[in-house]
Amino acid sequence: NKQIIFKDYVGGFPKESDMVLKTGTMKLEVPQGVKGVVVKNLYLSCDPYMRARMSKLVGSYIESFTPGSPVVGNGVAKVLYSGDPNFKEGDLVWGMTGWEEYSLITATEFLFKIQHTDVPLSYYTGLLGMPGMTAYAGFYVICSPKKGESVFVSAASGAVGQLVGQFAKLLGCYVVGSAGTKEKVDLLKNKFGFDEAFNYKEEKDLDAALKRYFPDGIDIYFENVGGEMLDAVLVNMRLRGRIAVCGLISQYNLEKHEGVHNLFCLITKCVRMEGFLVSDYYHLYPKFLEMVLPDIKEGKISYVEDIAEGLESAPAALVGLFSGRNVGKQLVAVAN
Ligand code: NDP
Repeated sequence: NKQIIFKDYVGGFPKESDMVLKTGTMKLEVPQGVKGVVVKNLYLSCDPYMRARMSKLVGSYIESFTPGSPVVGNGVAKVLYSGDPNFKEGDLVWGMTGWEEYSLITATEFLFKIQHTDVPLSYYTGLLGMPGMTAYAGFYVICSPKKGESVFVSAASGAVGQLVGQFAKLLGCYVVGSAGTKEKVDLLKNKFGFDEAFNYKEEKDLDAALKRYFPDGIDIYFENVGGEMLDAVLVNMRLRGRIAVCGLISQYNLEKHEGVHNLFCLITKCVRMEGFLVSDYYHLYPKFLEMVLPDIKEGKISYVEDIAEGLESAPAALVGLFSGRNVGKQLVAVAN
């Protein structure tokens, strides 16, 4: 059983060498008396929150990875053996699994059975998995969007952002996204139908860039990055705007998070800024599927994935999220 082992707690930017490929042996069976399943992992998801699990965490909403054990993350897998009445051999599932060829999963309450297989299975790491649910809950629940509103999305070409923008367009909003390369900006405009997009790395003055695209201000900001971008957005918010704080990726590798200077705008513009965790919204998953599956089949929603091949490519793929190397949802194909 090939595995990607997490070596030790990380400070600053994570590196490929923080993880190592090892080959061990594993009995392909569910031990007597254990409620769980043995799965063959097919796709593994690389997600920014995994950076937090590489730190030594105390009292966090998630636990640190265990040094010397495989990295853990969302994935798509096939059940080979089941010691859980809710699953049978051959079932396809998505949820928490190990970065390895085969895993014994005992926390089966966090596994979703895949019912719809007429879409790419890899989508269950992104569009139809955790990032999709994040975009859905963050946009529809936290942002309280209305037709015609002006929406800004940062890290807009990523796993979550590309969907938020498309949801907002389908609702009839004016949508602008920011991303870190020309290729990503082109995707936003030409593939995902954003009204406008810009490369934040080429803007000397983010405030001026936002004023260019939102002369009348922003009603909704879907926050993925934090830092300077958040400060620039705050002064461009409209009266009674909403900010969904989904992620702050620009801060994840800093020893000390940067200060935010323009919070006073929350008061003067009566803006609601609200953080959320996708884990609180999985009860909406069936409703989400009901909405999004027809949109996918009718071609109203598209999804770009960045698929790294082979378990050995997983560490580089994960680390690449923090330099923007991924174009679209980053995942790893482990087996057919
Ligand atoms: P992405 O697919 O968007 O990948 C990360 C992207 O972030 C990179 O490609 C890069 O794009 C951008 N980025 C990296 N470093 C910086 C930086 N210093 N400044 C600005 N942008 C940067 O990731 P996801 O869509 O999976 O996640 C997006 C956000 O949502 C993250 O902050 C994540 O933590 C958060 N999240 C929150 C959840 C919740 O429950 N609240 C659940 C899931 C995700 P570029 O080239 O454009 O810079």
